[in-house]
Amino acid sequence: MISIGFYGGVGEIGGNKILISSKDGSIFLDFGLNMKRKREYSLGYGHERISRILRNYLLLEILPRIRGVYRRDLLREDHYLRGAEEIDLHACLISHAHLDHYGLVGFLKPEVPIALSTTTSSLIKHSVETGHLTGPEGDIFTYRDRFLQEQLRVINDVKKKKELKDRLVIKRSQKIFSAGKPISDMPFHVEPYPVDHSVPAFGFLLDLGEAQIAYTGDLRLHGIVRHYTEEFIENARGVDYLIIEGTRITDSTQMTESKVREYAFRELKDKEGKFAAVMISSLDVDRLRTMINVAKELNRTPVLSPKLAHLLKTLKESGAHIRSIPEPGKDFLIYHEKRSLTSGGYMLDSQSYYSWQKQIYREYGNHTIKPEEISRDQGNYLLIFAGLTYVTELVDINPEPGSLLIESTSEPYDEEQEIEWEKVERWISLLRMDHIQIHASGHANREDLIQIINKIKPKTVIPIHTDNPREFKKLLQSEGYQVITPEEGNLLHLR
Ligand SMILES: [Zn+2]
Repeated sequence: MISIGFYGGVGEIGGNKILISSKDGSIFLDFGLNMKRKREYSLGYGHERISRILRNYLLLEILPRIRGVYRRDLLREDHYLRGAEEIDLHACLISHAHLDHYGLVGFLKPEVPIALSTTTSSLIKHSVETGHLTGPEGDIFTYRDRFLQEQLRVINDVKKKKELKDRLVIKRSQKIFSAGKPISDMPFHVEPYPVDHSVPAFGFLLDLGEAQIAYTGDLRLHGIVRHYTEEFIENARGVDYLIIEGTRITDSTQMTESKVREYAFRELKDKEGKFAAVMISSLDVDRLRTMINVAKELNRTPVLSPKLAHLLKTLKESGAHIRSIPEPGKDFLIYHEKRSLTSGGYMLDSQSYYSWQKQIYREYGNHTIKPEEISRDQGNYLLIFAGLTYVTELVDINPEPGSLLIESTSEPYDEEQEIEWEKVERWISLLRMDHIQIHASGHANREDLIQIINKIKPKTVIPIHTDNPREFKKLLQSEGYQVITPEEGNLLHLR
């Protein structure tokens, strides 16, 4: 008996958690956090108490009600999951390093290996080191058992204490997969294939004997590596079930990665002699490379925020399969944030620098540039950063009126970010800068999704990661496809 359970990403964008089960065991395809649902219940700063976070996530159905998969240190009592089905989970596969696909992995018991690519692993490592993942959500690779940690405070027996200390640090097991090669120790045959997205991403092909299933993860056909998506399509041809993302199923607009380059070039050229900055999505290496190249063509030195420099450093050190990773000194300079109260603002020992920043500045000290240096020669640089809050950094540069801020992110804004964006706009007008948007999405639009489906020609289409699963029915049923719009928590039994 084969079944598919959908525990997130159903009738909503993000939070994918797809459970594939056979008689030999189960795997999860992604274990993402639905940020919208989390925010709907977040009070105050939204930090849940450690003693009840897992229980509350079950209550809010942010985490699925399943037994045998969660960490014991966060949930000691069983009655919260009474009556829930127990599963034999062999692994959790991560398609890519976006939180809505991996953000809840920290709650899984550490014996369940996470299967991911080298690149995804290093992107998540970067996000954990430099980001704001708090509590168990940041417990992806290595963490401390929270129950033992507390026990250690009340135990005096030296021998017992030592024994507990030895078990304190938990390493979650990782299974690194590579393109086109079957993943080992799975209950059935699984092959990962890279796809084009705003971060390096994978889709999966599953062969369960009686049924072939393809899962797209997030993908597009208009990026730099669209040939990855095309190869995935080739390999998925004729599957029985296609689980496909539909973020943009109601959107026909098309902005390609190469158009982004063209527009950015033109806009920056018009701003000769003025300061310019560009905001990108935090892990979008393709966009980062695009902007570095545009800057160079216009004889502007690209200046990267320390976080983006850390991203490239982490990728390089991991040996990730990414073509030509730009290098500090040769391809860009690193923006030296002014954070301390002494030494003119640059006292590195100050607590105001994060430890990962200190590391970056110490290692690449010769390749940094301070805001006052940029300020003296404003037309010579392009500052590239990620994250809305970074706009306040520009105060230190003191841009001349009429300088340019390009917003060039790849993911759609949700409501919450729109509110934040209003604040950013206030800063932009306070700084007397001009502002334009050059967006290209990480997701395929309506026509491309239909094209992907028509080329794969599955017997059954299962849309997920979309607000409009019914739109797939409207578009596809007259073409002879069976379209199943899943319901959250319900199992779909195949054969
Ligand atoms: Zn994504």
